[in-house]
Amino acid sequence: QHSNAALIGKDTPQVQVQVHALSDTIVGVLGGGQLGRMLCQAASQMAVKVIVLDPLVNCPASALSHHHVLGSFHDAAAVQQFAKRCGVLTVEIEHVDVATIEKLEQKGINCQPKASTIRIIQDKYLQKVHFSQHGIPLPDFMQIDNIESAKQAGDLFGYPLMIKSKRLAYDGRGNVVAHSENDISSSVAALGGFNRGLYAEKWAPFVKELSVIVARGRDNSVSCYPVVETIHKENICHIVKAPADVPWKVKSLASSVAQKAVSSLEGAGVFAVELFLKADGQILLNEVAPRPHNSGHHTIESCFTSQFEQHLRAVMGLPLGDPSMKTPAAIMYNMLGEDEGEQGFHLAHQMIRRALTIPGATVHWYDKPEMHKQRKMGHITIVGSTMGMVEAKLNLLLKTEKESLG
Ligand code: ATP
Ligand code: MG
Ligand code: MG
Repeated sequence: QHSNAALIGKDTPQVQVQVHALSDTIVGVLGGGQLGRMLCQAASQMAVKVIVLDPLVNCPASALSHHHVLGSFHDAAAVQQFAKRCGVLTVEIEHVDVATIEKLEQKGINCQPKASTIRIIQDKYLQKVHFSQHGIPLPDFMQIDNIESAKQAGDLFGYPLMIKSKRLAYDGRGNVVAHSENDISSSVAALGGFNRGLYAEKWAPFVKELSVIVARGRDNSVSCYPVVETIHKENICHIVKAPADVPWKVKSLASSVAQKAVSSLEGAGVFAVELFLKADGQILLNEVAPRPHNSGHHTIESCFTSQFEQHLRAVMGLPLGDPSMKTPAAIMYNMLGEDEGEQGFHLAHQMIRRALTIPGATVHWYDKPEMHKQRKMGHITIVGSTMGMVEAKLNLLLKTEKESLG
């Protein structure tokens, strides 16, 4: 199988840079998943060279990267070696070895966003403390270290109570809901025990979940994408609707909370701000991602500048692009693994074939070597002239063959 991957050795030649490229800055990305892959796609359009560090030979970004260095973004030596080859170092995942990024920064390596941002964000509890200190509205939260403090959180915040792992959380892996005091010990056990580092969060009675992507350039210019609605299924982002169907006042509040949150963090790049909208119009912040985000995939087809191109422009110090929508409505549908192995691929391919017949639909397949239930395998974006039309096309996409026969 073709692979772009190579280990850095003593004899590895330095990456050759074209004299006539837009920029001779090589962008190094820690992580080579689907976000890294879509960063490489955006980069190729402008002949920007992206190299990725990922331990998987067949990681989604491998084939599209200028160069894929095999190694772990948790491994200090691998990150240090990798950084030597980069003009600017960025991330597609926040769960990286941040102590090494801090050291690299001290040595003068250009890291965007800054290590301080990654350190705050990779620990959700620290993130909550940080944002509450900056006056950002959040659900109430408290650290829990033992059964007594967990019960205390339940008494204070009521039930259902959200119990979260502080670190290494993604796609809801790291969240458990306790419905009563009796659930606490099993919830804690399901998260791997108190030693893993847990905190409790008050249930946010949201009517919608919203997301805002904010970009900041190296010159501190700020650019904000339209507010979108995210619909989660079992804690995993499932559908994104752009723009969100909420009143103007809500959009304006959501954007201002998002911009305020991002202004408290350092460095350039795109940042996704996940928000809860309550029935009374109040906005609470859920979490921030210091990188391109699932809620911004629609921008590839629906906005003048995609979040991926924007991230590259931001970290390279180029002017930011236009984040506004060039199509009135868009829906992004995440293709989550429906089954393990071959049967899962079969079901996904059936959906892709339907998508290929729908005008306005674009298929993105991440080419992950293995299929697992609930794993993000690809996505489909549908654009159109009204949200109603786009929704009708989504229904066509989701109709199973059995249903359409009957
Ligand atoms: P991501 O893949 O976005 O990084 P994650 O694993 O970090 O996900 P969260 O964003 O903390 O998880 O939560 C996932 C989802 O769980 C949220 O989008 C929301 O639907 C639900 N959720 C999280 N916190 C709360 C809360 N305090 N109250 C109610 N629902 C919540
Ligand atoms: Mg998260
Ligand atoms: Mg989240």
